[in-house]
Amino acid sequence: MDIASLVQQGQECGGVDPLALRQRLTALTAEQAVLMEQALALPEDTEKRAQGQAGEHLTKPPYGYMVSSADKKLWIVDEEAAAVVKRIFDLCIGGKGPMQIAKILKEDKVLTAKAHYAKKKGKALPENPYDWRDSTIVGILERMDYCGHTVNFKSYSKSHKLKKRIPTTKEQQAVFYNTHEAIVEDAVFERVQELRANKRRPTKADRQGLFSGLVYCADCGSKLHFATCKSFNGSQDHYRCAKYKSNTGSCTAHFIREEVLKQIVWGRIFDVTALFFDDIMAFHEMMYAQRSAETEKEMKRRKREVGQAKKRIVELDRIFKRIYEDDISGAISHDRFLKLSAEYEAEQRELEEKVKADQQEVDTYEQNKSDFDSFAAIIRKYVGIKELTPTIVNEFIKKIIVHAPEKVDGKRVQKVDIVFNFVGEINFLSVTQPKRQGA
Ligand SMILES: [Zn+2]
Repeated sequence: MDIASLVQQGQECGGVDPLALRQRLTALTAEQAVLMEQALALPEDTEKRAQGQAGEHLTKPPYGYMVSSADKKLWIVDEEAAAVVKRIFDLCIGGKGPMQIAKILKEDKVLTAKAHYAKKKGKALPENPYDWRDSTIVGILERMDYCGHTVNFKSYSKSHKLKKRIPTTKEQQAVFYNTHEAIVEDAVFERVQELRANKRRPTKADRQGLFSGLVYCADCGSKLHFATCKSFNGSQDHYRCAKYKSNTGSCTAHFIREEVLKQIVWGRIFDVTALFFDDIMAFHEMMYAQRSAETEKEMKRRKREVGQAKKRIVELDRIFKRIYEDDISGAISHDRFLKLSAEYEAEQRELEEKVKADQQEVDTYEQNKSDFDSFAAIIRKYVGIKELTPTIVNEFIKKIIVHAPEKVDGKRVQKVDIVFNFVGEINFLSVTQPKRQGA
């Protein structure tokens, strides 16, 4: 996680207290560590282990693992190296490329794999013990073994005489799942592959809008289309309402440049992230004010009531049937029957309405709870991002609504609403802003 840049941006934005932010991040990292421990402490899946046995390791363990002294076929985690591997994946998810990652490791004096092995064997360190190569970083980022899976037959040699090994295609490889402890979660690994696949900037001719498909017109509800031009350097790339056709369409342009939109979206994501870390409680309250201990109790009570009401509805059906029989047999007078049946019917109707309303509230509440967790997971994942990528945009944002520009004091002002995934629109004006301390 890139705390430094986040803190710096926070200072620039003037809204975040760097110290508080740092504390939050430290706290969360510890929390994540606990989660990780719990996940790793899960009972062993004997079936998976059996599957793994079929995929014996054909190579030496990669950096991050070592051979178990008890079982030579088993790879176990080399804690010190594993922490570096994890950090490399985190940095990549944080938007850093292999060269930047190598630079950071070098600056932080992290031992290279070779130096690490030398140190473990008690040998002298190589000449440049911190000289990480970007190719090494790439190798680590692309290695599926870190998810706990064994990938065999990654390369082959044409003949025994030739030393050079040739990479195989994906189809020729054999993957054995969960053969050893994972250092990196599957989801993290997949995200890294996705991010790395987007590393090359598309050429101008087939440039895609970063927000294509997400931008809507506030007035007619149509999508805003992305428009680019080969002769432009990208600074003129823009979005405009699909219903606008040079003054002949049914809507106005709602013209917005991609650069401007990028800044707005980036700023809004930053604000949300900062608020989240600076005052997670305020963030939580803002989104789901009802999720207090009392509300939790209240929801439990409602759930119970819904159950009771449902039972009573069934019971009323039975009672109604009985008085109906009594009416037929003459056990009660017909007037009495009419009065009773009207009462029961009214009670039943009332209960049915209550069940419907309460159930809906309980459902929404439960849904919100998981939404908060999902959104929190995205925030944690992307803390410290330097650049918006399609993946990040798609994970964070559901919809961007662009209003027609207005003139305010002679200046062009354009309102943009951002609807986030899971949590919807976040209105910062109604939120207690994090306290600002003197920088
Ligand atoms: Zn429109």
